[in-house]
Amino acid sequence: MGVCSFCLVNETDSWFGSYCAKCHRLQRTIHLFGNDKVCSIVNKVLIVDDAKQEEKINIEIARELISKEICLKKKKKGKVNTDEIKEV
Ligand SMILES: [Zn+2]
Repeated sequence: MGVCSFCLVNETDSWFGSYCAKCHRLQRTIHLFGNDKVCSIVNKVLIVDDAKQEEKINIEIARELISKEICLKKKKKGKVNTDEIKEV
């Protein structure tokens, strides 16, 4: 099979196809939402300056830390309850 005409990295997903599986998915997404909307989202999300990208990374890290903290609290509460049961 040949190389994908879009990403120029992966192999095409069929013998007579032009795109790989991932680029085919992108193509269907563009057909579904329109290239203006997809390009707009790519520009807003992926093509940002370093300061905004750093800010987004920090927000994601903060979310992950909060969710892990909540999980730890839930586990501690669960552990306390099982210890109490064992002692009784
Ligand atoms: Zn591709």
